[in-house]
Amino acid sequence: MDFQLNDDQKQIVELADTLGRKEFAPKAATWDKNHEYPYENVEKLRQAGLLGMTIPERFGGQERPLIDAILAVEATAKYCGVTARIIVETNMGALGAVMAYGTDAQRQLVAGRILEQGDKPVIGMTEPEAGTALTDLKTRADRIPGGWRINGLKHWITGGGISVSNLIFVRFFDQGQELGIGGILVDKDHPGFTIGRVEDACGLRGIPETELLFTDCEVPDDRVVVMGEGTTGFKKLMDGYNGQRVGASAVALGIAQGAHDLAVDWMQQRKAFGRPISDFQGLQWMMAEDEIKLNCSRLLIYRAACNARGLPNNVMLPRMAEASMAKAYTGHASLEVVSDALQMFGAYGYSRDLPLERMFRDVRMFQIGGGTTQAQLNMISRGIFRQKFDLRK
Ligand SMILES: Cc1cc2nc3c(=O)[nH]c(=O)nc-3n(C[C@H](O)[C@H](O)[C@H](O)COP(=O)(O)OP(=O)(O)OC[C@H]3O[C@@H](n4cnc5c(N)ncnc54)[C@H](O)[C@@H]3O)c2cc1C
Repeated sequence: MDFQLNDDQKQIVELADTLGRKEFAPKAATWDKNHEYPYENVEKLRQAGLLGMTIPERFGGQERPLIDAILAVEATAKYCGVTARIIVETNMGALGAVMAYGTDAQRQLVAGRILEQGDKPVIGMTEPEAGTALTDLKTRADRIPGGWRINGLKHWITGGGISVSNLIFVRFFDQGQELGIGGILVDKDHPGFTIGRVEDACGLRGIPETELLFTDCEVPDDRVVVMGEGTTGFKKLMDGYNGQRVGASAVALGIAQGAHDLAVDWMQQRKAFGRPISDFQGLQWMMAEDEIKLNCSRLLIYRAACNARGLPNNVMLPRMAEASMAKAYTGHASLEVVSDALQMFGAYGYSRDLPLERMFRDVRMFQIGGGTTQAQLNMISRGIFRQKFDLRK
């Protein structure tokens, strides 16, 4: 076991850190304030080789291990959480499922769009009546000659209307007979597919969270990534999602580390009672506790990424329990770290003139999106007590 980064990984961290500090930090507040997608950052990431790093060489990528992408995510998130999420979704998320279970044509299509156009694939699972209880989803795909007709509604989908590739979770039916849950690729401009309401989200406002509406949207057979196969299709999609969970954890960790670093600098300049506030032991201990939380988060995230094992086609995805532990722990630890960092700034931290309040809003998301903290704890405890996945069974 070796806890050191190799020289190549150190270069990735340095590259992402430099880009973050010089290019992304100065405009992070603007994307947030204007609800604007940072297209210019996407192009900078693409040119720097930080999009689609995990894509296999035969589809034009660098075939890097998951941990390398995680390092880039963490370093970027210190400066701009939204931009870091784009790295996650071009390396994990829908891409994991497509690479593991898709056809070569689907892999080439999704990978090419990421590497050539900076596309950030969407993963469309959640519905108004199916969030944590995802197996309640109602969006359906009915067999028609040569393909499938999709009807239904998704909501809170990251990047709706921005992304070209959309992996949609549906319930497949053939002549009224249910086949199970699977995933199907729908392109942004496909007839019958439209974008509905755009959420006025609390944080991470630089990427739209939207409804996706499907009205008699007819998609050919060759776009089915995972077929409804009883409960097997859903399980495959969930396995494919474990990479996204680790990626989301790395965004939360990076935001927390960024806020912590700002607080450490500030505490040595800000004086109270004639001395720097870093002299007060009560505050030192808060920062020490936070340093431990950052390190515990990092260890859980790196372990989950480094232990990722091959699915079909050598796609490296983390184990469910390790991904869930990383996400559950980092979700609350990062919020505490950012909250403490904001506290060190007093009233200044509560102002929109500084990035702390944005980081606080941004980091709150990671106990909800990508599966809530409670959902992660449920999955961990099901492993402990060897219970089945579906609570109803
Ligand atoms: C910013 C953001 C981005 C998102 N991006 C995407 C995306 O790109 N794609 C996508 O498909 N979805 C996305 N989501 C949706 C997200 O995955 C869901 O919000 C999440 O899974 C929770 O579902 P819900 O909101 O319906 O809450 P509910 O399922 O209604 O849960 C409400 C509360 O009850 C708790 N709860 C529910 N069931 C249990 C249980 N059995 N035991 C204990 N507690 C329980 C939950 O933890 C939660 O605290 C995003 C959400 C946000 C906020």
